Amino acid sequence: MNPTAHPIAFVVFLALLAGAIATFAWLMRERVAMLRAAQPSPRLDRWGERWAGVLTYFVGQKRILTRRYRAAGLMHALIFWGFLAVALNTVQFVGGGFSHGFRVPGFAPGTVLGEGYVLVRDLFEIAVLAMVVAAVARRLFVRPQRLTLSWDAIAILGMIGLLMVTDLAMAGIETASTGTAGGYRSVAGRALAPVFEGFSAGGAGLAHAAAWWLHLIALLAFLTYLPISKHFHVVTSLPSVLFRRLDRGSLPTPDLENSERFGVTGFKDLRWKDVLDVYSCTECGRCQEACPAHATGKPLNPKKINEDMRDALFDALPYLSGRRTPPDGWSEPVLPGATIAEDVLWSCTTCRACEQACPLFIEFIDRIVEMRRKLVLEDSSFPTELTAAFKNLEKNGNPWGLNPAQREDWAEGLDIPRMADGPERIEYLLWVGCAGAFDDRARKVARATAKILQTAGVRFAILGAEEACTGDPARRAGNEYLFQMLAQQNIEILNGYGVTRIITQCPHCFNTLANEYPALGGRYEVVHHTEIIAKLIADGRVRLRDGGDHAATVTFHDSCYLGRHNGIYDAPREALAAVPGLRLVEMPRSRDNGFCCGAGGARMWMEEKLGTKVNHNRVEEVAGTGARVVAAACPFCVTMLADGVNETGRQESLEVLDVSQIVADRLAAGGDGADRSA
Ligand code: SF4
Ligand code: SF4
Repeated sequence: MNPTAHPIAFVVFLALLAGAIATFAWLMRERVAMLRAAQPSPRLDRWGERWAGVLTYFVGQKRILTRRYRAAGLMHALIFWGFLAVALNTVQFVGGGFSHGFRVPGFAPGTVLGEGYVLVRDLFEIAVLAMVVAAVARRLFVRPQRLTLSWDAIAILGMIGLLMVTDLAMAGIETASTGTAGGYRSVAGRALAPVFEGFSAGGAGLAHAAAWWLHLIALLAFLTYLPISKHFHVVTSLPSVLFRRLDRGSLPTPDLENSERFGVTGFKDLRWKDVLDVYSCTECGRCQEACPAHATGKPLNPKKINEDMRDALFDALPYLSGRRTPPDGWSEPVLPGATIAEDVLWSCTTCRACEQACPLFIEFIDRIVEMRRKLVLEDSSFPTELTAAFKNLEKNGNPWGLNPAQREDWAEGLDIPRMADGPERIEYLLWVGCAGAFDDRARKVARATAKILQTAGVRFAILGAEEACTGDPARRAGNEYLFQMLAQQNIEILNGYGVTRIITQCPHCFNTLANEYPALGGRYEVVHHTEIIAKLIADGRVRLRDGGDHAATVTFHDSCYLGRHNGIYDAPREALAAVPGLRLVEMPRSRDNGFCCGAGGARMWMEEKLGTKVNHNRVEEVAGTGARVVAAACPFCVTMLADGVNETGRQESLEVLDVSQIVADRLAAGGDGADRSA
């Protein structure tokens, strides 16, 4: 049975193959040209870690097989592994078109490798077929809300199914006719042979030829359809995982002095990794389900950002890649405001839940903030509430516009040295942050932290009135000028005092000081207050007593900037677990799956006008645990949760405290003075 034995059949085979490869190459050329036209993105480092991630996340499908999506994940993983398994079979199939009976060296019939491989291939082909049927049924009948239900997906699944059916059919026909499938002892061939046993020799030949040509057409159609569909991820997912972000939560730092344009306007302003991300999205909707903005009815849906950008990009690709001359009047698509609506961009809390959930490590935050930069710095278009925050940051160094001289008021009576006083043998600078300095609740957290440090004998000082906002809210709101101005001012002061080690109670300050100041010349060892508190307890430098009037059951709310952005999940839990008599219960959405409080990404300074409130959503979840106290480790989380508790009428049943307040309340020596009133 040699379908290309006739010269005309061979010419048709060659023409189809050459046509498909040429089309694929032509489409790929456009897409690669776009990647080359985009901006640099430094991802060519830490190769060991990158390839280890490829094994874990690409080959091992680790992010696909999360507990939440186990059934759907297994479906995808089996199809993916099946594809890997049949790759060799495909090489033999195409090779057979040139030379009948072609076998990859070492995999000939009768060899251990060859027979073993055919057994694996058979099992995967059956599994893939079953998964394809299940996936189509799921899309047509179950219709999960997170999936984009397009005919594109059905067409691709149909092609995959056809590839499996035709290959299995060929094995069955060959086994029925000759006793083997191309010389191999195929399990699937033997199982299907009875279906074809009644066929005459001519009928079997015809059926085999039909299966062979259908298999070839499905294979080539799949190849040419990939680059123009959402299944382009079959090609791009390996590079997406390989070039995934490895650094912590820092945004790109542009050279403002030598820039003429700011942020992202069009596709060529994106970094090549952003373009690759737009190509790679599978529309699985996991980011959509993780997004707090989407969950609370805001106009933002991260999946849709990718879909809208891809639609616009694919329309413009022939012109952007230089393949075609644009018609008169054509202009490059504008992204912020036109392709992606402004209220979509301003809804993001930069919580990183989408990036954490995405199996392909697709990034959103940098793209969103870069578009905000364009709106703020080039168009002066931003929510009116931000005007006051920007002005206050510029004039007073804090978003509330309060007098910088009041920055030290929280420390009254605590005998904490200022760096300006020239204290000796200082181990740490305590970075108080604007909230710790000015917000009533956060001031109590600062006092609790200071009390713990003093009890443990940690030598620390503060900047007092010399401290200014790190610039985090300005940066996340797109005002990069203001951020760099504040950062440079702080770095000058910190470096002037020779500061090397910093403690901060604010995860936003932590993230900015640790991850973003190095690009501007500020390099410090930064620890979060929960880290040092947990360490002091573990080292026996802080001892806690039993008793007190705390509630016995506590749940911990993960701050996005402490957890997902910086990987600190254990320290606050260890500190809480060390408190005698306290029982820690977890919320369903915790650790890297934690749900935002709604304040990040400068949302703290914007009104939440649309949908339901993010903090209400979170407080409902807190209440569901039965905990009497929700502990947090971020001043913004404390504020948002406390507001949520008050606004949902739970003041009597639920208390919001920072981890440091709970610990300070139980200090064995002098621990009875911590102010816990909210
Ligand atoms: S960072 Fe958070 S708020 Fe922004 S798109 Fe992602 S999940 Fe949604
Ligand atoms: S960005 Fe990632 S998680 Fe979101 S739909 Fe695309 S592939 Fe899925």
